[in-house]
Amino acid sequence: MKKDIIVVGGGIAGLTAALSLVHNGRDVLLIEKNDSCGGLMNSFERDGFRFEGGARALVNAGLVEPLIKEFALDIDILPNPITLGIEDRLLKIDGEQSLYLYTDVLKGLYPESKDEVDRIIQAIHETIENMKVLYGVDNPLFKKKKKHILTQAPSVVAWMLKFLRTMYRITKMDTPFEDYMDAIAANQSLKDIIGQHFFRKTPVFFAFSYFALYNDYVYPKGGVGALMQKMAEAVGKRRGEIRYNTEIVSIDAHIKVMKDSVGNEYQYKKMIWAGDLKALYTITSDAGMVKQSLGQFRTQKQAVLAQKGAESVFSVFLAADLPPKFFSEKASGHVFYTPDRQGLGTIHTTELRVLLQRWDTVQREELYAWLERFCRYNTFEISIPVLRDPDAAPPGKTGIIISALFDYELTNRIRARGWYEDFKKRLEEMFIMAVSSSIYPGLKEKVLFSFSASPWSIYGRVGSSEGSIVGWSFEGKIPVVTSMFKMASSVKTALPDVYAAGKWVYSPAGGPTAIMTGRIAAKKCN
Ligand SMILES: Cc1cc2nc3c(=O)[nH]c(=O)nc-3n(C[C@H](O)[C@H](O)[C@H](O)COP(=O)(O)OP(=O)(O)OC[C@H]3O[C@@H](n4cnc5c(N)ncnc54)[C@H](O)[C@@H]3O)c2cc1C
Repeated sequence: MKKDIIVVGGGIAGLTAALSLVHNGRDVLLIEKNDSCGGLMNSFERDGFRFEGGARALVNAGLVEPLIKEFALDIDILPNPITLGIEDRLLKIDGEQSLYLYTDVLKGLYPESKDEVDRIIQAIHETIENMKVLYGVDNPLFKKKKKHILTQAPSVVAWMLKFLRTMYRITKMDTPFEDYMDAIAANQSLKDIIGQHFFRKTPVFFAFSYFALYNDYVYPKGGVGALMQKMAEAVGKRRGEIRYNTEIVSIDAHIKVMKDSVGNEYQYKKMIWAGDLKALYTITSDAGMVKQSLGQFRTQKQAVLAQKGAESVFSVFLAADLPPKFFSEKASGHVFYTPDRQGLGTIHTTELRVLLQRWDTVQREELYAWLERFCRYNTFEISIPVLRDPDAAPPGKTGIIISALFDYELTNRIRARGWYEDFKKRLEEMFIMAVSSSIYPGLKEKVLFSFSASPWSIYGRVGSSEGSIVGWSFEGKIPVVTSMFKMASSVKTALPDVYAAGKWVYSPAGGPTAIMTGRIAAKKCN
């Protein structure tokens, strides 16, 4: 099959790219290995309960609503209020003033560290002011083209000036979260409570920016996956073609031909790779490349393959024989909750490293004892779709997703020892117990059914290296663009006429940068 432009990967990055191209009248084929699009933004239903398999909601970031508008997608966007909770203190985030209420919560929990709390909150406040520029206004990438450039120029120039000033401040806050916190606070529990649900060594501006983003989450009616579905339908309606259940397994970049797992060939003039970057460089043959391109290709391949993805996630999906009111009386439908103010300390860092170092001697019960402590002191993301969209569960019942960051390497070692199924069941019970003995008392007794997904499930579904949900780990040397100043060049690859988009091409990544890079890659192919 021959196509002018082929997009590989139907996650939000690939969908944004494909939709932008067909919207401009280009002939596009989108290839997706699963039977539906969305990648790490998907929803699914089990016995009448709807769950999000990936991101629990979307950060608007001045991108999602403009995207819906530009492509005239027929979908309603619902509010997605966030609650932050520690032990029995639950704070529903409602605008910027909530930051000051959060200050009171922290001072109440750690009265001996009031000055430290003030310093941390001040730093968060400054970050929020900066983030307002980045995410507070509609991103010009999704502004409709005006007939005359001058009508658009003033808003773009104003945005750019603010943007540059913000970027200058942000680059000064590129320090890893842990190092920054060590410099302004000593109370380890306090530091853990604020940061233990971020990826290790997350740049501090990115971590703090979440306090601004908590006000910016939205939930598409029908679920996060419903928006992806609408985007996929819109690609089809505009003469784009989508091939599902098709996995690209080899690329000959010299002759611009790809092959899928059953041997079908696809010839492209331009290609956007919106899947895993390690996979791109692994499955591409360098045969026929001229000397200069070969050098670039090998250098880039080496840099990409040497690095790892950030932490993955373990998720428990459960249906409860409890009405939504039971949960709404406690908190909103999207909660970041820590059952114990003590925090993880070194459980997920040094202790985990030691556990992995002496893995061959670790007995199953020792692993479970570590997991018990990991669950007792961790921070959980809890999502209750029916509290945002009443159609997400049967009447009088509630579906819940409980998740926490989890290590891919540990999951792999557990699999190799043949403990995987038992481990999954045990960890599932521990997650349920952690919230049943704290924020939602008695939940355990009301579970109708439950199941879980591990880092391994994420790797299996979307082919994301190390089960990563947001691209590169911050602990190693990041092999892609990390400066917003250079975002436009992030989509380039070392292959002729091949661009890349999504969570692997720019760091730090997530939904917003996947959309932005999808859009930029499409512009390069237009
Ligand atoms: C539990 C969870 C919570 C999250 N929370 C947030 C959040 O709060 N905020 C935020 O910004 N982000 C969040 N994220 C991250 C966000 O969902 C992802 O970073 C984003 O969706 C990545 O989009 P993508 O298109 O780059 O990649 P993916 O979603 O991974 O899409 C890649 C697509 O390519 C397909 N593919 C891969 N290889 C091939 C191949 N060889 N051939 C054909 N198809 C292929 C895959 O099947 C997949 O559909 C979360 C993720 C998870 C899992």
